[in-house]
Order: sequence, then C-alpha cells, then structure tokens
Amino acid sequence: MELTDIKGVGPKTLDHLHELSVYTLDDLLTDYPYRYDLFEPTNLTEQYDNERIAINVIVETTATTAFIRKNFNKLQFRVNHNGKTMYAVIFNRAFLKPHIVIGKTITLVGKYDVKRNTFICDDIKLNPITKKEIIPIYHVKKGIKSNDILKIIENAIDDSAKIPNYVPDEFIMKYDFISKKQALRMIHMPHKEEEIKKAKVYLKYEELFLFLFKIAYMKDENENIYKEEKNFDEKKVENFIASLPFTLTDSQDEALKLILDDIKSNKKMNRLVLGDVGSGKTIISFISMYANFLAGYQSVLMAPTEVLARQHFESAISYFKDYHLTIDILVGSMTKKEKEAVKVRLASGEIDILIGTHAIIEDAVSFYRLGLVITDEQHRFGVKQREILKSKGEVPDALYMSATPIPRTYALTLYGDLDVSFIRHKPGGRKTIVTKIKKYSELKDVLMHVLEEIKAGHQVYVVASIIDDNEELDLKSVETLKEKFNMAYQGKIPIEILHGKLKQREKDAIMERFKNNETKILISTTVIEVGVDVKNATVMVIFDADRFGLATIHQLRGRVGRNNIDSYCYLISDKEIDRLKVLEESNDGFYIAEKDLELRGEGDLFGTMQSGVKTFKIANLKTDLKIMMQAKSDSEEYLKSGQYKNNMNYKKIVRDLERLN
Ligand code: ADP
Ligand code: MG
Repeated sequence: MELTDIKGVGPKTLDHLHELSVYTLDDLLTDYPYRYDLFEPTNLTEQYDNERIAINVIVETTATTAFIRKNFNKLQFRVNHNGKTMYAVIFNRAFLKPHIVIGKTITLVGKYDVKRNTFICDDIKLNPITKKEIIPIYHVKKGIKSNDILKIIENAIDDSAKIPNYVPDEFIMKYDFISKKQALRMIHMPHKEEEIKKAKVYLKYEELFLFLFKIAYMKDENENIYKEEKNFDEKKVENFIASLPFTLTDSQDEALKLILDDIKSNKKMNRLVLGDVGSGKTIISFISMYANFLAGYQSVLMAPTEVLARQHFESAISYFKDYHLTIDILVGSMTKKEKEAVKVRLASGEIDILIGTHAIIEDAVSFYRLGLVITDEQHRFGVKQREILKSKGEVPDALYMSATPIPRTYALTLYGDLDVSFIRHKPGGRKTIVTKIKKYSELKDVLMHVLEEIKAGHQVYVVASIIDDNEELDLKSVETLKEKFNMAYQGKIPIEILHGKLKQREKDAIMERFKNNETKILISTTVIEVGVDVKNATVMVIFDADRFGLATIHQLRGRVGRNNIDSYCYLISDKEIDRLKVLEESNDGFYIAEKDLELRGEGDLFGTMQSGVKTFKIANLKTDLKIMMQAKSDSEEYLKSGQYKNNMNYKKIVRDLERLN
C-alpha cells in the first residue's frame, strides 16, 4: 500500500509527510508518538491556579476576536463551569470563532488565572472530553499538525489492507502476544496507559527480531562466499610500512594483520574496523589497498562526502608517490566528461585505486578487476545501506571503517554478520583535548581564549545545534552565532558558516578556505565532515552541548587535537552538566559510548548525527537488552528452522538481502 492510497493523503499532505521523512506505510505506522497528553476533565478549584488542566464548560457568549498585531490574535468569550462564570482566552485561533456557539459544551485545556478569573487555553476541544483521554503527540513540521498525523494513521490502520507482521506465529503463541494491528492501535490510539506498555513490548520485540534475523541471514550468507585467494609480496608491504613517517600502533598492527589474512584467504572478507576518531584508520585502509594492488586487483575507497574523498585522494597520492600506482578520484562536482574519462580508465584496468563518494561510485561504475571495497565512516543505520559493488564475476573483499565506538557486546550483536576489529588506542605523542563545560554567563572567557588561539595562528570550530533560530528553545543558530562572534571581535576575524542546506560546491569551497587558513573561525551545524583533518585547528566550541549525545560531541571534538599542539573543547551549556562531565573526564571513545548508553539509553551509538536516522524506532538498546537477547536467539532459531521460506512477509526481506550480496 502506498501513502497516497490512505484516505486523507493528498499531494499536499504527502509533501508534508516527506518532510517528516515518512515515505512508506511502514514509516508512517512506525512514526510513534514521542509523548502522550493525558486529559481527564477536572472540576476547577482555586488550587489549580497555574496548573495545566482540562475543564468542561458551557459557552455563554459568542467570541470576540482582537487582532493584536500581524500573526497574533486573541479570541475571548464567556463560559460557565459548574455554575461559575469566567472568561476563556485563546491566542491565534481566530478560526475557531464560528465554532464557539452559545449553549455548547466544550473542553478547555490550559491554565486558570484566578486573579483575572480567566482560563488561558492552549487548546480547545470542540468535542468535549468526558472521561480520561490519552492523546498521542507526534513530531510535526510546519503545515501539518499532530492531530492530522493521528487521523492519517487511524485511516491507515483501519484500512483492510494488510499490515505485514514480522513476528512468526510460533513466537506470537509462545509469548502470548497481541496482534500487530492491535499493537499499532494501542500505541497510536490508546485508551489506557497499560495498552501503551503492552503495545511497546510487542513492537520492540518485532523490531529487534526482524533486525537480528537480517543480521543472522547475512552472516550465514557471508560465511559461504568464496573467492580466489590473493597472493601478494609480503616483503613489499612490510617495506611500505617501514617507509611511513611513523610506526603503527599495536592496535593498528593487530587490525592490519587480520585484514591481510582476510585478503589472502579464499573467503570473502567482511570486516568492520571500529576505531576511535584519530586512531589512524586511513593508513590501515591504504596498506590494505596496496596489498590488494600487489595481488593484481583494483581497490575502491568510498567516503561519505566529497571533502573527505578529496582529502583521502590527496593523502593517497602523497603516500604512494614512489610506488607506481595509478590513483584517481570520482566525485559529484566533476564534469560529465571528466567522470566518463575516469569510468573508461577504470573499466580498462588502468586505475589501481579509485577514491570517491559512496553516491557516485555506487552509481553504475564497472571495474576491470575489483578486489577490495573500503567504506569509510559509513555509519550503519540498517542493513540496506551496505550495498556492495560488483565487477564481472569477481567477489571483492569488503572492509568497513567506522569511528563510532560501540561497546563490544553491542557491536558483536548488531554487527553480528561481520568480523569486527577494534582499534582501541590512539597513536602516542598526542596531547589530549582539554575539555571544559562553560555556562552561557562564562562565554566571555571562551571568546577571549578563542581570540588568543587565533592570534597564535590557530583556527577554531564552532558548532551550533540547528540552522534556523528557534525562539522557543532559545537555540543559537549558525547565523546568530556568526553575528555574535563578529560583534565580539568587531568584524576583524574572518568567519564563515557551513550548514547542510548549502550546495556541495559551496561547502567544499568553504572547507577549502578553512583548510588554507584563510578562514579563522568556522561556524557550522554538525555537518562538519567526520574525518576532516585540519591540523591547525585547536579549539572546538559547542553551543547547546546538552542537545547532543556524548558520542557525537566526542566525534566533534575529534576535529581538534590532530597535532601535538594543545587543543581545547568548550561545551557551552547551562543544563545536564553531570552528563557532560563525562567528556571532561575522558577522551576514550569506547568509555564515552558506554557512559552515553548508560545515561541516555541508545544514545547516539550509531552516529545519528550523520544519518539523521535512528537505528531503532522503538527499541532502546540499554533498557531492552533482555528483549534483544531473546529476539536474537529466537530469530536465529527461526532462520535455522527454514520456516521463513514459507512466510510471505519474509520473502521480500530475503529478496532484498539477496540483492545486497
Ligand atoms: P581516523 O581513525 O579518525 O580516520 P586518521 O586515519 O585520519 O584517523 O589519522 C589521524 C592522524 O593520525 C593522521 O594525521 C595520521 O597521519 C596519523 N597517524 C595514523 N597512524 C599513526 C601512527 N601510528 N602514529 C602517529 N600518527 C599516526
Ligand atoms: Mg577517518
């Protein structure tokens, strides 16, 4: 069923839903309320002064509208509540005027102001609430209201069209589960609080079961993929390593050894290297590509952004300058002609190493003899993302690099289909990044320090949590921050802003100027590219730090401290100081991830920062560990039994997975 098949979804609503990242029926049904409003009509007494309540009233007068200024109006009318006359006021709902009919019973939601004998409403229910009601509240964007979303979901659930159910019957029986439809009804239209609880158990289990089934399936598949053994001159690889300007750390050595063994073996490599920011994953990928080249194969390295791809390209050129490898780049901003030329040289086998962005390379590029595919900084948010390139009949080895540290137990479950290597330690000789929490009232100190660093020739990153100003939450947008900094430094310091709404070309130009030290302060949203290496940057200032997960902040501060100069990270916040303190105390990404998990549940283990998508819609890895372990063993059992082959809903899942391999 398509979204447009749902009653009440026209082209306009569809646009609004897309803005909320709702594209499919499943997206819609799993767009769970982020909270519920509980209403129970009360009898007003003075003790409710200033408490948000709902009361039923009879309308005594028609409403008068006052237009106070543009986009600001006030509706006022008299009501009777249990024999007591009072005034009701609501702002910006002039459109309700015709519905305020004398003698009608309605529910007012809001606060009673005793002094003025006035009920200040934030909501009016024209169909009065008579008993306890639970109203789900959804995330919304301009143009669509929470209630509209509820209506659409109601229509979707009511439709006789089938909602796929991924918990096999045997487990529904085993756990005495409610049906999927019931669970969806209970979570979106609950009558009682217990229903929400019941629904959650089912939905969490289903989500984890399906996810872990896919992992188990992929693992099974991966274990049985064979390839030609790759032989390469190990001496040459050793010489290359010896020629590096540094010695590999023990962690790097260990990971590399496993990778080289994988390359040599007759089984396809499926390895994930998890290493903290700055742990030195790039060089590991280069050495692997060198070995693969020596064995006579082409390699490809995919980065999530063009800036990162260019950076890798430049370092590859410099590392390999004496090694007779042909290295090339393929990114979106190249002309069609340039891209075509690269594709031709790739297909003919002239290019040994291709570096580029995921998007471009995945888009129909054919290789002469592809042996190794490396994906850098791709945070997984679903099995689907891990598309694998193919060349004529070859089975390329796959290596994934991620800087999102995940506690070991979780990594082994969630990446259960891959072999995982951890790079725990960073190269020595690095200064730790001195991290300090500062209140907004102490901002001046930070601004002073920033100025000192710039005077010393260094550069500064500033991170804002959103692009547009949001008065309500008092968030500092990149724009306001730029004004603020310009004001503080009287416009004498070159400052630029970077955010997701800019075109790739503009972003690249801005990054380039920052890299060249033309810009001193770069103010951005969290789009600052993961992995960007500007060694001269020494200060990271993060505004509204409480809005970020610890792992995200740790990633962000990894942009500084890339040299042996002292580096600093300032977390500007008046809230959640205890949580942020973890960052003051530790520089170990794995420890921080563990703490984040402890303090925030799932936290942002999977770098929601990059993807903007949570791995799980409802399951919470910390609190639902038990459900997860159960779902893991159940889904593995289900796979082993082969029952899934007879399950309609699993046919599509398996087909999609097959396409990935
Ligand atoms: P990440 O793991 O975050 O991708 P990078 O690969 O970008 O980290 O490495 C960060 C920096 O550390 C780079 O400038 C790199 O040259 C340097 N580096 C890598 N390995 C070592 C090492 N063993 N000793 C010293 N410096 C290293
Ligand atoms: Mg990197």
